[in-house]
Amino acid sequence: MAITYFDRAIETAGCEDIAAHQISRLRVLLKELIASNPFYGKTLRDAGFTDARLLHSLEDLKSLPFTCKSQLVDDQEINPPFGTNLTFPFDRYTHLHQTSGTTGKPLRWLDTSESWDWWARCWAAVFCAAGITAADRIFFPFSFGPFIGFWAAWAGAEKIGALAISGGAQNSYQRLRTLMELQATVLCCTPSYALHLAQVAAEENIDLRRSTVRKIVVAGEPGGSIPGTRTRIEGAWGAKVFDHTGATEIGAHGMTCLGQCGVHLNEGEFLVEVLDPLNLKAADEGELVITNLGRIGSPVLRYRTGDHVRINRDVCECGRTFARMDGGIIGRIDQMLIVRGVNIFPSSLESIVRTFPRVQEFRVIVEDINAMDELLLVIEVAGDNPEDVVKAVGRETAHRLGLRIGVELAAQPLPRFEMKASRVVDKRVRQT
Ligand SMILES: [Zn+2]
Repeated sequence: MAITYFDRAIETAGCEDIAAHQISRLRVLLKELIASNPFYGKTLRDAGFTDARLLHSLEDLKSLPFTCKSQLVDDQEINPPFGTNLTFPFDRYTHLHQTSGTTGKPLRWLDTSESWDWWARCWAAVFCAAGITAADRIFFPFSFGPFIGFWAAWAGAEKIGALAISGGAQNSYQRLRTLMELQATVLCCTPSYALHLAQVAAEENIDLRRSTVRKIVVAGEPGGSIPGTRTRIEGAWGAKVFDHTGATEIGAHGMTCLGQCGVHLNEGEFLVEVLDPLNLKAADEGELVITNLGRIGSPVLRYRTGDHVRINRDVCECGRTFARMDGGIIGRIDQMLIVRGVNIFPSSLESIVRTFPRVQEFRVIVEDINAMDELLLVIEVAGDNPEDVVKAVGRETAHRLGLRIGVELAAQPLPRFEMKASRVVDKRVRQT
């Protein structure tokens, strides 16, 4: 396998060299923030960082409090429209995006031309890890609205010299026609949308396995690292799937290499911590906390992502020393369900459901019954005798999860998603 790197020196560096690189990047960042960022300047000074040269080790940064999304949301609420996490005067900023708003009011985020170039470099690393080169034609079946994800990927495609093709303002059928006609070799979208396009192709008698698409970079949902989902996408398209992780307020931090064994975190551009959710102490499994090192105009420091991950620091067969998240992002911390004492993330249900080819779409309904979480899995099934599939899914969930959950047939077709899928319907009454 021909391994390609964006920056081989840092991607294969030893842990001490990576730490030294991170400290020097952090000092540059902190110097600017202490001088002129209203949001972080005070926090840094309160934590004793009156001068960036006081930072001697990564351990020193731990005296800084965590940043939570709610603080950023509140700051924008009080200081509309962009908040105070701005290091430079307004005229330095050139790009505005916002979060997808799946979990509340969208958060707006400004970038300078330097930090936009940083985004492009982070995405270029994602493409290089997947072996995507200047010879590739990358198709983006995305509406190009204010959500940052695929705009940054577009910039990354340009950075590596690939041909970027927009699928904006087209329906799914038109997108399939475009990617076939222009002989796209790479598809970049959410896992749900890759499956939806495959379904539309089947209905239109288009054999995607005969298309030129060989690689699919998926983002926005955990599906790319869920074996059942990945196998299903790869089977329908005759292409390899590479999971990517990132967020509007953080950056493009995760990349999958040709080994397809977990998602590497780009430790050249991000400082990564993992916290035990119960005691907030460092752990190998728990909440991912990130400090980005190259977005000086609008950074995040020790940002609690709300994502549950399992970290693996073994050197990968690709030669990268960057830590890997086994299974990618396993789920959202706030979506972890405890059903009769068993911890379950919705991704575990997805991994089961996707092994049944006749299940087209699904929902997970969570209810609070007698102070206990209870799950109901609703599935949409193609073909005759759907009840047989319902029974089989019920048996498989009982076998794989070690507990029995309700499985029902959807009364009507379930909605499909182009952007982040939200398949969990939480009907629990929250105690406040
Ligand atoms: Zn690797």
